[in-house]
Amino acid sequence: MEYELERNTVLNACREMVRSNLTVGSWGNISLRCDDGNMVITPSGTNYEKSRPEDMVVTDMSGNIVSGRMSPSSERLMHYAIYKNRPDVMAIVHTHSIYSSVLSVIDHRIPPVTEDTAMILGDGVEVSEYAITGSQELADNVVRGLGTNNATIMKNHGAVAVGSDMDRAVTAAQVLEKSSHIFIMAKMSGTVNVLPDQDVKKLRGMSEAYLNQWKNWK
Ligand code: 13P
Ligand code: ZN
Repeated sequence: MEYELERNTVLNACREMVRSNLTVGSWGNISLRCDDGNMVITPSGTNYEKSRPEDMVVTDMSGNIVSGRMSPSSERLMHYAIYKNRPDVMAIVHTHSIYSSVLSVIDHRIPPVTEDTAMILGDGVEVSEYAITGSQELADNVVRGLGTNNATIMKNHGAVAVGSDMDRAVTAAQVLEKSSHIFIMAKMSGTVNVLPDQDVKKLRGMSEAYLNQWKNWK
């Protein structure tokens, strides 16, 4: 099968997304940028548990199908826009996770509250402006909301996390949901104290050294 490794990487990430309670049903979508510049993306509106590697869709960055029988995710314009604007990004995980969705509805950013928020996600997580699902306007808003960070909350929708490989993108999605949960609980319980500015910058710089041992897991 063409792109077998990449299709399996995307499907395994989908299963991890479901196991981590980051979405329900067929919502959310995941993609991987391949070494040849094409993208493997989840098919639209399908059940992750029942999906097979051959159901993943390979497209070029102009939207042409390279391989696969299913229709690619309806959110593919957002994936293309992120890859075009962020050469460092190799994998994208879009979720409808609960606590990030709460922040998306109340339109509230996450400040850098804990070490892992700053290390993995950046100097906070901004809320991207609203636009209807699947539109180029939504894609452009998400690119702006992401900036140089590794996550953004999508207003009245969900969240997007990115990484330089699939492990990092999935971890960013998990840290994003954890940070949203902590921030909401902290805000309900008392004063939210954020990390000092100078430490946020240092922590971001530390993330690659910290995650380096991941190479040994593969
Ligand atoms: P797809 O099933 O088409 O990927 O759409 C799900 C979704 O989350 C849209 O934003
Ligand atoms: Zn969505």
